[in-house]
Amino acid sequence: MNKVVLLRVHHGLCSHFFSGKGYSEEFVKNMTYILNLLNTQNLKVRFVNGCDDICSCCPKNIEGNCENFEEVQITDETCSKEYGLYPGDELLWSEVRAKVINKIISEENLPQVCNNCQWRLICESINPQDL
Ligand code: SF4
Ligand code: SF4
Repeated sequence: MNKVVLLRVHHGLCSHFFSGKGYSEEFVKNMTYILNLLNTQNLKVRFVNGCDDICSCCPKNIEGNCENFEEVQITDETCSKEYGLYPGDELLWSEVRAKVINKIISEENLPQVCNNCQWRLICESINPQDL
């Protein structure tokens, strides 16, 4: 992987709530690897509109397009508005964390942002203060 991690916007949120569960063993392994890089090396993130480095090992990624295109597009757009992160933005991982976590803690907005997502109950069970 190069030294800029590509993330679609809502993955800037999901990455803070990852608890080792995911769509497949390969997905979990890849996500664990990416998060380890981000957290230990504070790499630069570039937000993209479409499949990213996390999607690269997802079984729902069909030739570069997400099978759940409409749902994830809505979540991306909601996250852009909530966290001020847009496709094309480049920030250090620590800056992404600060934007996302401060907003979640101050506004407790996870249920509205994630209401489309199958993982919502797992993520909602995590206390933002522990992130
Ligand atoms: S479900 Fe779609 S957006 Fe989510 S990781 Fe898989 S391919 Fe990417
Ligand atoms: S509920 Fe879904 S969209 Fe929201 S943080 Fe968790 S995995 Fe991401």
